[in-house]
Amino acid sequence: MRFDVLTLFPEMFPGYLSQSLLNKAIQRGLVDVQIHDIREWAKDKHHKVDDRPFGGGPGMVLKVEPVVECVEAVQQFDERKGKVILTTPQGKRFDQRTVEDLAQVERLILLCGRYEGFDQRVIDILQPDEISIGDYIVNGGEVAAMVVMDALVRMVPGVLGHVESNVDDSFSTGNRMLEFSQYTRPREYRGFEVPEILLTGNHEQIQRWRQQESLKKTTQQRSDLLKNPNTEK
Ligand code: SAM
Repeated sequence: MRFDVLTLFPEMFPGYLSQSLLNKAIQRGLVDVQIHDIREWAKDKHHKVDDRPFGGGPGMVLKVEPVVECVEAVQQFDERKGKVILTTPQGKRFDQRTVEDLAQVERLILLCGRYEGFDQRVIDILQPDEISIGDYIVNGGEVAAMVVMDALVRMVPGVLGHVESNVDDSFSTGNRMLEFSQYTRPREYRGFEVPEILLTGNHEQIQRWRQQESLKKTTQQRSDLLKNPNTEK
């Protein structure tokens, strides 16, 4: 899977890309991440990528030309044209179902906004999927792009070993429930003990206990997940 990230702050990415699972996936050639500086597509000598909003108001708006031209150029860097994703609080809320859908796409081009966001014509021209990581505002689309990549690499075959398997992950398909409680050593800490059943080695009973735990936890913490998706608004 290939990601192209278009940003005004490329230096935010090397640390993130050089660690943990994502780094291993890159090293093993399972995932390719290319970072592009939108500023390189600015037309004037000061590399200006933002301007004041027509109609007045606070803040600056990302200009249409460098963004559109950057995307069009980056699209040529690979034979797969790629799906363009624009990060914005006004987009569709990112969830595990979207992760599973996007995991089928071989190349994603992630657009990171800044300031007051993009000139509307970026959206009109590129017709991207607009994605929000939640109903709150962060300073820029870089962290949103990291969230999207982080969730998606978990779905790339071979990225997760058995130890980090996503089979029981909360929200995954066929499991609209939270994951059961997990425990590791020690067996007892400050009077809090690991449930006896997990120490029995009886896999059938452990499996049943985990399903019950999962249901209990979901009922207590996220009962909305138990509603029939077909009856949801
Ligand atoms: N003024 C904009 C609004 O109210 O919709 C918010 C702009 S925000 C400060 C700057 C950039 O951060 C956005 O263009 C977007 O790329 C990113 N961003 C902020 N919150 C986000 C969210 N919840 N989901 C995805 N991207 C977000």
